[in-house]
Amino acid sequence: MTAKRNTKQKSAIEEAFTNIQRPLSPTEVCDLARKQVPRLGIATVYRAINEMVEEGLLRPVDLPGQNTRYEKAGLHHHHHFHCSSCDKVFDLEGCFLKKDLNLPKGFDVIQHDITLTGHCPDCNHDF
Ligand SMILES: [Zn+2]
Ligand SMILES: [Zn+2]
Repeated sequence: MTAKRNTKQKSAIEEAFTNIQRPLSPTEVCDLARKQVPRLGIATVYRAINEMVEEGLLRPVDLPGQNTRYEKAGLHHHHHFHCSSCDKVFDLEGCFLKKDLNLPKGFDVIQHDITLTGHCPDCNHDF
């Protein structure tokens, strides 16, 4: 019984990440998954997300000064856009970092994270 219920909760949570293709906070995941599992609690969401991170299905997205969001693991390299108005985080496809960074001699880049901050189309009223 319990196992079955957990499975239903977990698949609702997984579906939230499939339907909304951007990094989600546990609160956002909870709101989305409640459409299928109305009595889903935030503690269950946290637990399921942690399990899915351990299973390699999700990965944390840490932005400076922000609560951790999560996204599906194994996505292509991409960057993030944080809307300072609605607090949503979006994926930006591809990489726009210059190949020639003019780094001082001896520095070798292994990886990078870039997060842009601004307003999304919904919040950008000049758009
Ligand atoms: Zn916004
Ligand atoms: Zn990049």
